[in-house]
Amino acid sequence: MKKKLVLSLGSNLGNRYAYIRQAITYIEECFAAACVCSSYYTTPPWGETEQAQFINMALYLETPKSVDECLTQLQAIELQMGRVKTKKWGPRSIDIDILFYEDSQVTTEALTVPHPYMHERVFVLKPVCDIVPNFVHPVLNITMRNLLLELEDDSTLFCN
Ligand code: AMP
Repeated sequence: MKKKLVLSLGSNLGNRYAYIRQAITYIEECFAAACVCSSYYTTPPWGETEQAQFINMALYLETPKSVDECLTQLQAIELQMGRVKTKKWGPRSIDIDILFYEDSQVTTEALTVPHPYMHERVFVLKPVCDIVPNFVHPVLNITMRNLLLELEDDSTLFCN
């Protein structure tokens, strides 16, 4: 049975658009699935604010893989694309986060799904609303559209 997988992608190093497009291509190849993609947004850096702006987007696909397999393969794509682990919230060529895996709740050492901060971040929620506005958060029990309406993060995003 295929599961709904919602991902958040971000880049703030080098040719950010090229990194995002390349990551989408790798994800489609690796998962053998067509992705539904949000618009791309230019967003201010989070946490560590003295760094370049990010390009963020979200994508949706359906997959028979387990959530652990999804994480392993997405991390392999990050590595393949030269992602070097620097400090927390530091600059990165590509960052791929799992936001939702169907309506599963996962808490292991490697993985927390739904992503624990997604509902606090406009740079995640805005692109997610492009693709799955009616998806109901399995813990908060509220749609993506309503989460965005209620959000207190007032950072400005530019749609590219
Ligand atoms: P980051 O620096 O944001 O790429 O964080 C990567 C780390 O977060 C990895 O060690 C993952 O195992 C862990 N992680 C926990 N939950 C998630 C999630 N929902 N999606 C992606 N990585 C996650």
